[in-house]
Amino acid sequence: MSKCNSCKEEHKLENTGCNNSGNYNSGNYNSGYYNSGNYNSGYYNSGYRNSGNYNSGDYNSGYYNSGYRNSGNYNSGNYNSGNYNSGYYNSGYYNSGYYNSGNYNSGYYNSGNYNSGNDNSGWFNTNEPKMRLFNKDSEYTYSEFSKKFSFVYPELKITDWVSYKDLPKDEQTTDTKNMDGKLKTLTYKEAWAEYWARASDSDKKWFQNLPNFTPEIFESITGIKVNEEVSLSGKKVKVEVDGKTFTATID
Ligand SMILES: [Zn+2]
Repeated sequence: MSKCNSCKEEHKLENTGCNNSGNYNSGNYNSGYYNSGNYNSGYYNSGYRNSGNYNSGDYNSGYYNSGYRNSGNYNSGNYNSGNYNSGYYNSGYYNSGYYNSGNYNSGYYNSGNYNSGNDNSGWFNTNEPKMRLFNKDSEYTYSEFSKKFSFVYPELKITDWVSYKDLPKDEQTTDTKNMDGKLKTLTYKEAWAEYWARASDSDKKWFQNLPNFTPEIFESITGIKVNEEVSLSGKKVKVEVDGKTFTATID
């Protein structure tokens, strides 16, 4: 063993690269094994900073990726959690398009399969479907809808961290004190009720102005009865008595 010309150290653990804590690396700063790239905690990577193995790309936690930042395997694209994608941000398999949770898509945002169009949940579509809202087709595709409507994204507290001091007394235990709180889980409808109680009037109106809005369907999904909130107090109505029309005010 002789000292390295570059790092002036003697390379140990069969490394020909410098500053490795892992073994058999020709690259540098690897804690994993057999890497020709640098800063890998995985094995056999020629790329950088992979925790997965056999990657030629960088920052992958999956295997055999030539792309970047994949948690899936065999991707040449980037940011995929699925496998065998050449596109980006796919959680499905074998997509050349982007943002697909389905498989074999060349288009974008498909949850179905084999689509070259976008936003399809079905198979082998080349175009974009009309959005279904409230169990009926609407007149808009998602692309048209997203141009016409602004969006409200309710912050549903399906899970919510409650700090120790805000917990009810019977939940202030040694455990919750040690963790300085507790993660609470609400049911889907409980979370909607909590959100609806603090939502602005304009946000509540946004839901009710959606195409095809149907109170019964909204209630069956969210548990929210929108009509209960409508008070007729103070409203003027026309009433007909003995053939004459009067205006009355509801108290
Ligand atoms: Zn060295």
